[in-house]
Amino acid sequence: MKKLIFVTGGVCSSLGKGIAASSIGALMEARGLNVRMVKIDPYLNVDAGTMSPYQHGEVYVTDDGAETDLDLGNYGRFTNTPLSRANSITTGQVYQAVINKEREGRFLGRTVQVIPHVTDEIKSRILAVGKDPDVDITIIEIGGTVGDMESIPFLEAARQLIHEYGRQNAVSVHVTLVPALSGGELKTKPTQHAVKELQEVGIQPDALILRASAPLDEGMRRKIAGFTNVEFEGVVSGYDVTHTIYQVPQIYNEQGLDSFLLKKMNIESRHADLRPWKEVVRKVVEPKRRIKVGVVGKYMELTDSYKSVWEALYHGGIANDTGVDIIKIDSGKLEPAPGGAAGAESPDIDALLDEVDGILVPGGFGERGIEGMVRAARWAREHGKPYFGICLGMQIMVIEHARDVLGWANAHSTEFDPDTACPVIGLLEDQVDVRNYGGTMRLGKSESILKEASLIRQVYGAEHIWERHRHRYEFSNTYRADIENSGLSISGLTPDGSLVESCEWPGHPWGLGVQFHPEFKSRPTAPSPIFKGFIGACVASAERRGEGMRDAGAKRPNKQEPGEGHGTRP
Ligand code: GLN
Repeated sequence: MKKLIFVTGGVCSSLGKGIAASSIGALMEARGLNVRMVKIDPYLNVDAGTMSPYQHGEVYVTDDGAETDLDLGNYGRFTNTPLSRANSITTGQVYQAVINKEREGRFLGRTVQVIPHVTDEIKSRILAVGKDPDVDITIIEIGGTVGDMESIPFLEAARQLIHEYGRQNAVSVHVTLVPALSGGELKTKPTQHAVKELQEVGIQPDALILRASAPLDEGMRRKIAGFTNVEFEGVVSGYDVTHTIYQVPQIYNEQGLDSFLLKKMNIESRHADLRPWKEVVRKVVEPKRRIKVGVVGKYMELTDSYKSVWEALYHGGIANDTGVDIIKIDSGKLEPAPGGAAGAESPDIDALLDEVDGILVPGGFGERGIEGMVRAARWAREHGKPYFGICLGMQIMVIEHARDVLGWANAHSTEFDPDTACPVIGLLEDQVDVRNYGGTMRLGKSESILKEASLIRQVYGAEHIWERHRHRYEFSNTYRADIENSGLSISGLTPDGSLVESCEWPGHPWGLGVQFHPEFKSRPTAPSPIFKGFIGACVASAERRGEGMRDAGAKRPNKQEPGEGHGTRP
């Protein structure tokens, strides 16, 4: 019999249910079990593709091109679960499917209702994720907070599944908060109420993960167990991590959460092999050295807008036994002051970029801050500083080269200047017709062929790679020959040769731009080759400057973003 683990949240949002669910997944895999993970988002958007990073953080892209919630990125970093459109369920998708069926007459004239039609649709979507015969456990994270109106149909579907499967096959894990008053006194009442709310919808939690800044003592856990009908062994202290979210699986394991859940579900398994996670944590806590990466982009003030990029940088650090300090640089700050002479150097560009060991320009949409990114790329090229451009960051390299090396002062992307005389980046011909509808986005996994003797080929150690895309504009083939002949090397192409996938600065220590998003496939236990290569180049750059082993900082651990202890979003 297949098993189900439901993960819900109470008291308030942003408790880190995603990290909790992912860590449970990691522990089950460490015991040799085959896990699938699914995120339920109780909003009416059909997917996260149209949501602003300001509203919703990063849009995480799966192999099949689904634009999903960033929690799927956590699932991908903590577990081996294959991720596709099916792993992200929203209210919008569910209602769209039910209404389509109704329009097609498939309910045979019956009245279509939330129960059973909407709940049946939810149940069938949940079960579809774990349908392969070799899957042992499906972990279902229900977004939002129990008590929200929006989650009611999903909780009802969970209740029904727990009833149908039996509690020995379907368990509930509730993540709640144990807040401290200003004097430090811990309060259990919010958790008691949160559990009551879950019980009111017919779900008795089997385990509780109690979020708090510090570990909770046994007395506190026993008290909560007593009030909530949860066995003491199932009451786990999910305290804030000191260094990295990758400590969380170990924290749960030390308190026996994985063995408790397995006992509840009658699953026999081997002991958890947590060696890979321990090694990851060791390298984050005690790296051999530290380097600084300057990330130049938009949305820099938002912690979650480039979540996968931050994590992949840390993974690149882990691969090099190097701590990575991320310096977020708002690209607007690198632009000339308004009213300043055109082309005048921003006064503080040297100060800002000199102190970092490498520069990364991540993906992005919209015109704001573009000129600052072009300046950063030029500065990196001229100063021999490692440069890594992702998607928009590669397009910036092309614009910068065309303007500075070829002298085409007006070179631009039609995304930012639709009337530019020199559109080095533009829509493909077959996209231009649909321009008024926003064009079509290239989404999901596809193949690139890497040129022999190129940096990218060396970094991947392979000729054929498959990475995920999310962009609309392309390197224009009209200008390809001129740009390449003047010294920007084109090192990666689609298999038919029609689209440019990567560009490099020959003769530069490490300058590489890619049209795809390698950050989505990076894992702490299997870092992305390209991030590994970039951080390696940053280490070399730091050493060249004679500052590589900054002794004073050598033992400083990676800093955690404030509030990031268990992840920052529901
Ligand atoms: N805005 C650019 C495009 O659509 C780059 C997209 C991105 O960086 N993800 O092509």
